[in-house]
Amino acid sequence: MRKTEGRAAPQPLKKEKHFAGLPVGAGIAIGPAHLITDQSPSLQPRAIRDNEIEAELTRLDEAIAKSRRQLNKLRTQLAMLPAEGQAELEPLLNAYIQMIGPSRLLRGARKRVEGLASAETAVAAETEALAVTMMAATDRDRAGLKRRADEIREIGRRLIRNLTETPFQSFAKLAQGTVLVIDHLRPADAALLSPARLAGVVTEEGGTDGHTAVMLRALGIPAVLGAPGITDFVRTGDLMVLDGHAGSVVVHPSVTTMATARRASTAFARERQKLAQLRRLPAETTDGQSVELLANLEVPIELPLIAQAGVEGIGLFRSEFLFMNRSEVPDEDEQTEAYRAAIEAMGGDPVTIRVLDWGGEKEIEALQTTSTVNELTRLNPALGLRGIRMLLRHPELLETQLAAIIRAAVSGPVKVLLPMVTTIDEVRATREIYQRVAKRLRRRGETMPERLPPIGIMIETPAAALSADALALEADFFAIGTNDLTMYAMAADRGDADVAKLYDPLHPGLLRLVQFTIEASLRLRKPVSVCGEMAANPKLTPLLLGLGLRCLSMNASAVPRVKMVVRAVSIADCARLARRVMEQTEPAAIRDLVEDFAAKLA
Ligand code: PEP
Ligand code: MG
Repeated sequence: MRKTEGRAAPQPLKKEKHFAGLPVGAGIAIGPAHLITDQSPSLQPRAIRDNEIEAELTRLDEAIAKSRRQLNKLRTQLAMLPAEGQAELEPLLNAYIQMIGPSRLLRGARKRVEGLASAETAVAAETEALAVTMMAATDRDRAGLKRRADEIREIGRRLIRNLTETPFQSFAKLAQGTVLVIDHLRPADAALLSPARLAGVVTEEGGTDGHTAVMLRALGIPAVLGAPGITDFVRTGDLMVLDGHAGSVVVHPSVTTMATARRASTAFARERQKLAQLRRLPAETTDGQSVELLANLEVPIELPLIAQAGVEGIGLFRSEFLFMNRSEVPDEDEQTEAYRAAIEAMGGDPVTIRVLDWGGEKEIEALQTTSTVNELTRLNPALGLRGIRMLLRHPELLETQLAAIIRAAVSGPVKVLLPMVTTIDEVRATREIYQRVAKRLRRRGETMPERLPPIGIMIETPAAALSADALALEADFFAIGTNDLTMYAMAADRGDADVAKLYDPLHPGLLRLVQFTIEASLRLRKPVSVCGEMAANPKLTPLLLGLGLRCLSMNASAVPRVKMVVRAVSIADCARLARRVMEQTEPAAIRDLVEDFAAKLA
């Protein structure tokens, strides 16, 4: 927390004014506002003549080259950011750099120039058309589509700035301890903010899971995004209090509000210190039960953060990233290298690699070029050829991936995880392919691991959960994917805000599926973990332990809080809580029990 009360004293003459937005970055900020509005370069549409086409295409090419140089430079500056910041920004910059290569956007812009639009008019029209088409898709994850549309618009803005030679927004001159108030903050700009200088950030636009939000969280800057009306009200120099946990902003705070904010900020700093000390302590309950805490990995640049998170391995390596932002499927050697890098980074701790889970909300460019995509986007993608279904339809993809995993397993302990399994046949068919691939590798003279890595399955459909006892005879371990299990059990899309209330992991129906799965795995002595978002919520940790879980896999930054809960509870109390929870018939009653238990720990 950064204080700058000395800079601007509370102004009793002005009434305090409250704004609400989305809580994005934890922490309290107190400081004077620095207001920035209207950042878009203004543009009048302009037509050109036939004989100007050549020159206009050259201008466009120069702007593209300049934008590419700027983005590459930004990428080299990544090394100066904290590990979390690097992890978030690198894939984004790569996506931008890819768009500035041979992309639909640039092809479309060139076509428009040939149709007699000026270069900037062509870029503006093409980016808007692409963004609007993207947002018009109805059958995918809205937040994901919005993110992609924002990325396209961001590249368009950069090209137009370079074409019109409009300077970029610079935050370098912001006074120490300022709260930045801005209508819209681009992720690439967010990456350049200095957490040491800036007290906090408030924006008019933005969502909780956009890249900007993730970036601000990674930088540890207290932030509230999407606070409507804030830029109209605030003037530079106004004193502000911002609570990034509650999503609240107060302008012209009263003396009482200031005192409360100071207390909250001290408490926040203390908690952060306490959490940092947990890294080396064991995840063990008060009655001596060890709990295995693992990390989920989505992009390889998270590896340094994971290695420092105090985890015992990677419980979910989402291999989808290998297939994203590219036009070709990665070959066996490339995949082997990616898996090996993760295995070596974990220094002997196990890495659970999930084979490609395409479908539903996950969009993968590399598969767009094959006929596969047509099958996948037909009808309802979440209920179609998703995960293992698609891989068994296209065994060449599965074979390449399994071969790469087996080869990488020479470097350390590995497990294979199959997504979206619903039937025993799918596990058997995968095992047959696995054996065939291993045989082929042996024939090829590859160095093989002593034993083939075990094969486990995601439990993320109600059918799989309710046949967990039968599946346990075929699979070596279970990972319960509560994100999809909730979606399929509740028939509520995990990315649809309209049914967000229904998407409730505390519904008794969902908890019974989780309980049935855990009991089956314990009976049949098969290891079981949860790797969905439930595992990252410390309030749910006692319930999951009480249901019998001893292994949780989550994003690395969630580990300290979950570990703190593990170390504060006894299995006996957790089991009592779980018993009471499982007697309830309504989510609200379950929520009360869980909240009460958490409140007693606090
Ligand atoms: C899940 O469904 O809970 C899960 C971990 O998989 P993903 O979020 O990648 O679909
Ligand atoms: Mg899933």
